Amino acid sequence: MSVRYLVAPTADAADGARSARFGDKTILWVPADQKLGRASRTAPGLLLVTQVGRSFQDEYPDVTPLLDHGRHLVISAADKPPRRSKHCWRVETLKPGSTVVDVPARVARRTDPAVSHWLSGLTQASYQADLTWFASLPTRHSLSPSFTTAVDFAAARMVALGYNVTRMPITVGAGRSENLIGDRPGSGPGARGLVVITAHLDSINLAGGAGGSSPGADDNASGAAGVLELGRLIASRRWQHDVRLILFGGEEQGLFGSKQYVAALPAAERARIRAVLNMDMIAAKNTAVPTVMLEGAPVSSGQIDDLAAAAASYTGLKVETSLHPFASDHVPFINAGMPAVLSIEGADSANGNIHSANDKLEFLDWPLATEILRMNAAALAGWLGAISAPARPQPAGSVVSWGPGRLDIFVVGTDSALHHKYWDGSNWHDYESLGGVIG
Ligand SMILES: [Zn+2]
Repeated sequence: MSVRYLVAPTADAADGARSARFGDKTILWVPADQKLGRASRTAPGLLLVTQVGRSFQDEYPDVTPLLDHGRHLVISAADKPPRRSKHCWRVETLKPGSTVVDVPARVARRTDPAVSHWLSGLTQASYQADLTWFASLPTRHSLSPSFTTAVDFAAARMVALGYNVTRMPITVGAGRSENLIGDRPGSGPGARGLVVITAHLDSINLAGGAGGSSPGADDNASGAAGVLELGRLIASRRWQHDVRLILFGGEEQGLFGSKQYVAALPAAERARIRAVLNMDMIAAKNTAVPTVMLEGAPVSSGQIDDLAAAAASYTGLKVETSLHPFASDHVPFINAGMPAVLSIEGADSANGNIHSANDKLEFLDWPLATEILRMNAAALAGWLGAISAPARPQPAGSVVSWGPGRLDIFVVGTDSALHHKYWDGSNWHDYESLGGVIG
């Protein structure tokens, strides 16, 4: 079928026209025998391409997209490639009436001073240091010795932060690699939920093969270092629910690590999951306005709303959303019915450096990554459930106060807890428990 199409700023479709929305743009089309104004052009049917980076455009440079919205393209059916999908791109029919990319209204929730204070502990310096270390390895190809070096480094960081660390062997084709898992139990009473934070640690150089240089700075040292930074921030206080950090191997060869992790996850663990937050490419700024894309599915629309609200409340990020999950470690969780979301830099397809020796530190935008981490941390605070410590003044040293017939002494003990005694004129008393930790 031949169609006429028109790309316009988002608006209601004209009578008889079909439409699909891509963020700020809408593509309108009608069958060829109908008219859609002078500006419309004819194409023999429309296809939706979802791609990682510019993988489709790199493979088919002669195909001119009718609409280019980065991760999503519309192409003419005349340009249909011989294959419908590859690991890094997928082609399907463009469905009328679909919202492929949404730009939700910016709805801030009331900011919580405790969350704002906690977010101030997020530092670009520690994130940058970890990311730089990962990207300085010659490669993190899943089957390379230096992938193991990266896992060793991340495991040591998690242990130092107080996480219980497990290394899960996985297969990647005929080879062997591993996932790294760090657990930290919550402190809530009763049954506890589980919040999972993930990124793939491996990198790839598609042209250069397993031996090719592959710094993978954006894809995905940016996400892996993000897991460690969020893990560091979370370890600084107590939460109701359990948290699990996961760094996957084998993502670039086809989600081997996350598929095998999900397949092995017991039903009781799946049922406990409150949210899965995946980070894959969060540090390249491809748009004038700092933008994040939140990609999930109907099962994770509540988590997407939470992240969008966190962005509006605590950051200056523009948010785009999509319910067409594709090609990263959130997908196996979603396919198994768990509420997973990918956070990824806006217009990731404008980043032509990934999967090559050119995915280098010099192309990263540290403030953008820090903003995305702030959004993620603020949403995590809601999912993890803060356990608020009683708001009491914490003297830096011993404090003595006195009045008629009374003497109070406050001392911070070697256990870091605040101890309080008072003298009533004839006896010493333990006055009260402060923060539940008085000895
Ligand atoms: Zn990636």
